[in-house]
Amino acid sequence: MRRLTHAFTGFSIGFLAARLWGGNLALAAYPLLGLLGGIFPDFDLKSCHRVYLHNLFSSVAVTSGLYGVLVGSGLPTVVSGVGSACFLAGWLSHILLDSLTLRGVALLYPFDKRMRGLRLIRSGDWRGEALAWLIGLGLIYLGFIVSRP
Ligand SMILES: [Zn+2]
Repeated sequence: MRRLTHAFTGFSIGFLAARLWGGNLALAAYPLLGLLGGIFPDFDLKSCHRVYLHNLFSSVAVTSGLYGVLVGSGLPTVVSGVGSACFLAGWLSHILLDSLTLRGVALLYPFDKRMRGLRLIRSGDWRGEALAWLIGLGLIYLGFIVSRP
């Protein structure tokens, strides 16, 4: 998958979360945190790509650290929690989309280094990209039609 596709998918998750649970601060922060979560896993591009940061353990560990930083910076607990959840959801969407490709991901690393996934398409295949963009657009559409409390 392309970086822009991962970024857009994470952004759209954060946008929907902001529309569901947030105010003005959330509308700016949640999509950005989702976007960052969507691109963060590819920081392992230069070393053991799709292993170190394409697994459940690292996603939860880094997100826990992010939550601590957000709470420590004085943000309300709810904003920190939902923001961190957007980051994690963006990250997990990245892992899910990469798992559709032939290479797969090391989902259970460091406990198991085997590459796993559905392995349906080549990385960069237009069908995978189109699916991801359709899902992202659907989430943004949902964000516009949901009524905020
Ligand atoms: Zn990746």
